[in-house]
Amino acid sequence: MSDYILVLDEGTTSTRAMLFASDGVLVASAQEELTQHYPQAGWVEHDAGEIWAKTLDCANAVIPKAGGAAMIAGIGITNQRETVVAWDRESGEPLTRAIVWQDRRTAPFCEQLRAAGHEAEVQARTGLLLDPYFSGTKMRWMLDNVPEVRAAAERGTLAFGTVESWLVFKLSGGVSHISDASNASRTLLMGLADSGFDSGLCELIGVPFEALPQVVDMSGELAVTRRSLFGREIPITGMVGDQQSATIGQACLSPGETKATYGTGAFVLTNQGEQVPTSSNRLLGTVLTQLDGKRTYAIEGSVFVAGSLVQWLRDSLGIVEVASQTEGLARSIPDSGGVTIVPALSGLGAPHWNAEARGVITGLSFSTGKPQIARAALEAMAHQTHDLANAFAADGTAWGTLRIDGGMAANDWMAQDLADMLGVRVERPSFIETTALGAAMLAAAGAGLYPDLASAAQSMRGTLTTFEPAMEDSVRDERLTRWKKALEAV
Ligand code: ADP
Repeated sequence: MSDYILVLDEGTTSTRAMLFASDGVLVASAQEELTQHYPQAGWVEHDAGEIWAKTLDCANAVIPKAGGAAMIAGIGITNQRETVVAWDRESGEPLTRAIVWQDRRTAPFCEQLRAAGHEAEVQARTGLLLDPYFSGTKMRWMLDNVPEVRAAAERGTLAFGTVESWLVFKLSGGVSHISDASNASRTLLMGLADSGFDSGLCELIGVPFEALPQVVDMSGELAVTRRSLFGREIPITGMVGDQQSATIGQACLSPGETKATYGTGAFVLTNQGEQVPTSSNRLLGTVLTQLDGKRTYAIEGSVFVAGSLVQWLRDSLGIVEVASQTEGLARSIPDSGGVTIVPALSGLGAPHWNAEARGVITGLSFSTGKPQIARAALEAMAHQTHDLANAFAADGTAWGTLRIDGGMAANDWMAQDLADMLGVRVERPSFIETTALGAAMLAAAGAGLYPDLASAAQSMRGTLTTFEPAMEDSVRDERLTRWKKALEAV
C-alpha cells in the first residue's frame, strides 16, 4: 500500500527530503547545504538551479527507502518564505539568481512607497508592512535591474514564484505554475481576504499580474510530478510556507493556539480562526491554512535575536563552549543577581520594531559572573516573548498554551521559565521537526490518508513534554520591572 509521505523541506541554508510513515514517524532523510551568495552588503541570493538539482538528489536518495515511488502517496513541500525566483516559462530556466527573504536591497523602494502614504492601505489589505522582507518588491527589483527578466516580461514568458512555486513548476515538467495561499500571503500582492493576487496591488508594486502563479489550496491533489522524474506520476498534495507549516505541525488548528519557534530568532504564530486579522501593534496578519477554498488566518510576531544570543555568549564572550551549557549555569544560581540583558544586537523586532536599537546589559556588580550572564540571556527569551504576548493580547488574541520548538526549545530551564513568566502551560513535542511534520500532515490529508487535516494532525503528532507555570507573582513582577527599565535604556 502506498502510504508514505515525501516532504521536501526547502530551508534557507539547506534543502532536505524526509520520508514519513502515515503515522508521522520519520523513516529516512537526506540533506544538502545550499550555497549562499552575498554580492553586496545586505544582499543575499540563491541559485534556483542548485535548489532544484539538490532537491531532486535528496528525493532520489530517500525514495528507495520507501520501497520505490509506487509506495509514496503524496509529496508535501515546505519552504523558506518570501524568496523570489524568476524563470522563463518556455526554457524552464532561471533568469537570474533568487533574491532571498533576508535581502534588504529594496529598502529604498519600500521607503518611497511609505513616503507616498501607501503603508496603511497595504497593511489593511495584506496584513503586512512595507518592508523589503516581503516578496513583491524583490520581483519589482528584478524587472528594473535584470535585462533578461524585463525581456521575458515583454515576450510574455516571464514566471515569478516563491520557492514552492518554482519546485512545483520543475516537478510537474512545466505544467503547473501555482503557489499556495500561505506563501502568496507574504508577497504584498494578495489581499488576505482575496482568493488570488490583486491587480491593484500588482500595479502599486509594479509587478505584471500575468507573471504570477495561480493561488491554490494547501492540501489536495495540487499537481503531479512528471513521470520521467521518479518512474511514476506522484501527486503533490501539500504546499505550505515554513512558519505556517510549523504551526500546523504543532497542531495549532483552533483559535488562540500558539506556537513559538526558538531558532536563530523566534517566530510566534497564533491561530486566529476565520476572522481576517488586523493589528494595531505592528504584528503581521497572514494566511494559516486554505483548505477547499476556505481560509484560516494567523497573527505573527518575530523576535530577531533568540538562539543567536547564546551563540554570541559562546563565540564572542566564551561564557559557554556549547549552547546547552547555559542550562546548567542558569540552574547553578537562584537568580541572575539583578543582571538583565536586552538582546537588541541587531535591533528589536515585534512589537518594538526598532532597527537602530542596540543591546544592553544592566545590573552588573562584582558578584556578576558567567552563571549570571548565562541566566540573564535565557531569561531574555521569556521577557521578549512576554512583550509579544502583550501585543497579541492587545490585538485580541490572548494565548492559551504555548507550543515551542526550534533548537533552543531543547533547553528545559528556558521552557520552564517561559511557562512561569507567561503564566501559561508550555508544551514541547518529542519530535522537534515541526516544520516538516506540518507539510507531512497537509500532504497526508491531501492524499486521502486521513479524512481531513485535523485527523492527520491528531494521528501524526507525537508525544509532548509539558511545563506548568509555578513562579510566584512577586518574582515575576520584579523580573518584568527590571526588564522594562532595561528596555528604556535601549
Ligand atoms: P535555525 O533553524 O534558526 O538555524 P535552530 O532551530 O537549529 O536554528 O536552533 C539553533 C539555535 O539554538 C542556536 O542559535 C543555538 O545557540 C541555540 N541552542 C541550541 N541548543 C540550545 C540549548 N540547549 N540551550 C540554549 N540554546 C540552544
